[in-house]
Amino acid sequence: QWIFLNGEYVTKENAKISVYDHGFLYGDGIFEGIRVYSGNIFRMKEHMARLYDSAKSIMLNIPYTKEEFTDLIVETVERNKFDDAYIRVVVSRGVGDLGLDPYKCPKANVVVIVEPLSIFPKELYETGLEIITVATRRNRPDVLSPKVKSLNYLNNVLVRIEAHLANVSEALMLNDQGYVAEGSADNVFIIKNGCFLTPPGYVGALEGITRNAVIEIAKEQGYEVKEEPFTRHDVYTADEVFLTGTAAEVIAVIKVDGRVIGDGVPGIHTRKLLEKFRERVVAEGVK
Ligand code: PLP
Repeated sequence: QWIFLNGEYVTKENAKISVYDHGFLYGDGIFEGIRVYSGNIFRMKEHMARLYDSAKSIMLNIPYTKEEFTDLIVETVERNKFDDAYIRVVVSRGVGDLGLDPYKCPKANVVVIVEPLSIFPKELYETGLEIITVATRRNRPDVLSPKVKSLNYLNNVLVRIEAHLANVSEALMLNDQGYVAEGSADNVFIIKNGCFLTPPGYVGALEGITRNAVIEIAKEQGYEVKEEPFTRHDVYTADEVFLTGTAAEVIAVIKVDGRVIGDGVPGIHTRKLLEKFRERVVAEGVK
């Protein structure tokens, strides 16, 4: 396995960064998770656009143009020879002193890791997930925009801890007004009377690339899709619920806070969507 680290390809054992890196000291940095399906990188352009938007928002200088960065990610994928894999791109503020001052970090640290990944066991894609809603709130868009895919994932980590304590593998965060925002690393959709609903970005969710692909696919399949706020009540009473994410892909939810969703099995629309999504991911991508 070869890891890209600041212009060099190194082994896992040698992929090391200073303890003075501000990504480590302060969570000062950004990242992307991208998927490789059958050798094709899924929606690379969209991921690069989000990475550079995140960088701009926090005034982080990525030392490569978008084109150069795209090329080096493609090269890292090729060197690793996995047909199906997950790519983790991390850009941190870089090495500085112990103070917070980002202006004392002259150069970003850039890392690209490629490896196989499956966050949920395969069976769960057949049976569906049981999830809960948790006390941890999504941070407000005016504090740190959820659109910035930053290294500050403490809320999300706390969500996973709450989920773990409740013996489930994922959970939903609400925003500070009580509207459903998203999962710890995935977006949420509900289906009611054949209509797909997902929270709009302003509720406090990352604009997921899988989410946007699912919106596109659902529309192509003739479904109505709406981006509007909804509450836990709407989730409990939905016909179907599912999560989307680069790592999670599309996964059905069959129970939320003890309420059985629909018939308690992955619903017909979710299954159709998952099938179409799987067709799409292998058909698309840049080599
Ligand atoms: N929400 C959060 C907080 C995430 O970290 C992710 C993961 O990347 C998503 C949603 C899903 O976004 P995407 O489909 O772009 O992976």
